[in-house]
Amino acid sequence: MTVGNPRIPKAPAVRTSIRTRLMRQDTLFAVSIVVILTLLSFVMARSALEQRVLAQLSGILSARETLLERTLQSAREEAVLLGSRSDLVRIAQGEKAQGILEAILANMRDEHMPAQAIAVFDSAGTLRGSVGTAMVAPSGSLQTTILQPVTGNEGWKAYRIFAPVRSDNGRRVGVIGIEFDVVSLLQPLLSAASLGETGEILLAMEKDGAIVLLHHRYSTADQKVIILGSLGDQYAFDLPLAQALKGETGIRSAEDYAGKKVFSAYRLIPVLGWGLEVKVDRTEALRSVTALAVSMGVAGALLTILAVFVTRLLALRLTQPLVRLSGRVSLLRPGNWVFRSSVRSGDEVEVLDRVVEDLAARLKVTYDHLEDEVTKRTAELREQYAKDRAILESIEHGVVAVDRRGKILDINPSVERLLGVERKAVLGEPIAQALPFCIHRKPCPANRHPVMRALEKRAPVRAATNTHMNIVRADHGLLPVNFAVTPLLVGRKLIGAVLVFQDMTDDRRIDYIKSEFISLASHQLRTPISTLRWYIELLSDEKNKNLTPVQRESIVEMQTAAARMADLVEALLHAARLEGGSITPKFGSVNITALLTDIAEELRALAKDAKISCAIDIPSKPVMIMTDAILVHIVLQNLFSNAVKYSRPGAQVNVKVRVHSGDVEIEVADRGIGIPAAEQHRIFERLFRARNATTVDTDGNGLGLFISHMIVDILGGKISFKSTENKGSTFTVRLPKNTRKKTV
Ligand code: ADP
Repeated sequence: MTVGNPRIPKAPAVRTSIRTRLMRQDTLFAVSIVVILTLLSFVMARSALEQRVLAQLSGILSARETLLERTLQSAREEAVLLGSRSDLVRIAQGEKAQGILEAILANMRDEHMPAQAIAVFDSAGTLRGSVGTAMVAPSGSLQTTILQPVTGNEGWKAYRIFAPVRSDNGRRVGVIGIEFDVVSLLQPLLSAASLGETGEILLAMEKDGAIVLLHHRYSTADQKVIILGSLGDQYAFDLPLAQALKGETGIRSAEDYAGKKVFSAYRLIPVLGWGLEVKVDRTEALRSVTALAVSMGVAGALLTILAVFVTRLLALRLTQPLVRLSGRVSLLRPGNWVFRSSVRSGDEVEVLDRVVEDLAARLKVTYDHLEDEVTKRTAELREQYAKDRAILESIEHGVVAVDRRGKILDINPSVERLLGVERKAVLGEPIAQALPFCIHRKPCPANRHPVMRALEKRAPVRAATNTHMNIVRADHGLLPVNFAVTPLLVGRKLIGAVLVFQDMTDDRRIDYIKSEFISLASHQLRTPISTLRWYIELLSDEKNKNLTPVQRESIVEMQTAAARMADLVEALLHAARLEGGSITPKFGSVNITALLTDIAEELRALAKDAKISCAIDIPSKPVMIMTDAILVHIVLQNLFSNAVKYSRPGAQVNVKVRVHSGDVEIEVADRGIGIPAAEQHRIFERLFRARNATTVDTDGNGLGLFISHMIVDILGGKISFKSTENKGSTFTVRLPKNTRKKTV
């Protein structure tokens, strides 16, 4: 059995398959690992190579420094040794012996010492003999050995060693100076064969605040001194040679004087005060790393491809049962709850497969049960609906249901009948337009429409007593109604409202006839009653001795009855005049406390006769209000007399007057018979008397409160009451101090 056409939602389409996600993520992971490892190895290899190059540079620098120092040292030793020769002592003391000097020079060359000049000076520094280039003994050379480099435009040309010439007794008698050719020193010193094509060994000195590159590469030809700029500036630019000249030692990557990136080792050679630098091009030094990077990249790419392939394979194997299971689950639907577990992978997918089998079996049972239940409930609901509809249609009152915006959802046939509208035409229309209300004859604005007010306030709205409410019919006539609007709330949510109205045409007509009759009867009865009373008065005259006591008693009774009749007619006349609008209040400044005190006196007299005590609380201070004293008198006299009339003998009546800023409040309270709760809403109706009042006072006419209500309304005030049966009633009148109500 199936229930209607149940709408089974389609199994949702897979947006991204788990297989694809697994592949994507695994591939990403594998690629990241390969890339990271490749980069890491590359960086490590590069850093190791850098370290090696720097260590190598440092080694070469130390070796060259040692070579330089050793060469200079041996030259120095040679000079010191020659300085102690006796023949040289003699030359220093003035003997002419040019041949000796030439022999010494030749001898030194034979011993592979590149000496190219020799000179001997006496102790005063005067040249005593020389071979080769002319020299001048520097000051201080008599005391100690002095090394003097000789530089020219081509850079470092030669170096001279000056040593003291000592006699046998150790006395310094002169100075010997030997000049050595620098080429033989520079050749091994600056040879950078082991540093590849870009390796260089540089020697620089400071001259006039600038760095002078003495030999940037050893070569005999075309050597030019190169000036590398100011020492201070180059030091600020971290030029290794500048740092070396400032006495610093270092091994690091740097920029050379030509702006090339190099690895460099540098230090100061203290003997000469010169800087020595060994450097090699970074690119060349790291060439092997580039090759390494390429091979690593290739290996990485191959690894990545392999990883992707393996990942796909794994993902396929892992997700195959899951994908198959999901396909089978999506086939489950009403009419097809068959599912047999088939996965035997032993993992969570197998568990899931079994759970689905179990769930499908349960779903089948539940669904079957639900179908039965739904069918049953639907039939019940249909029946209920038919009943409700029948009730609604049979109701005499008009019933209108609206949604929370006030649009008509449904109306019953009575609405169509009473208002002459068509159901189809008003459905979905705003109620304020489709069924407008009028207060008396005045159209009620849309936002003041009772249904809209009930929706806005979320509280019931009822027709006010004595307010003539009408609904405008389709033919523009007015239908007098009594109504109630009840908002529909589900929890705290407003879902709409229901308006129920009752056709009041007959009631209004009766009302009209009543008032017409009262008006007519009172007018017509007034004169005959006056005549009657006048004649009874005559009859009751004391001088009339012809009457028997029984006749006299009857006349008294006639007198009382006629007086009561006159009162009734008077009241009827009042009511008729008020309704007809022929009473216009004459507003004037009235001392309300004085007026009330006067009326209270009347009350006292009235109460005294009925054996009822009075407690009257009226402020003595004069309070002036704009009102009609005669009308106020009628109202209060009526309230006082009611309080007395409906109290039991011995009870008390309380009158209290309170003066507020804008109005005066008069309260008349008794502890009498009270008004039954069920009848309280009719208390201001014309000719209405409560059930319990008729037994206490047979003479009442049910007009007093009707008149009072109307008068208070005309005076712009308000009358209200609270009452409990058998406990008493409290009537309250509020009169405005200034407001003048428009005349009726
Ligand atoms: P009447 O008193 O002549 O019947 P009213 O219009 O003055 O007419 O009052 C209408 C009805 O209101 C009374 O019949 C009575 O049922 C009820 N009523 C008025 N005042 C009181 C009161 N103080 N205590 C109890 N019932 C009262």
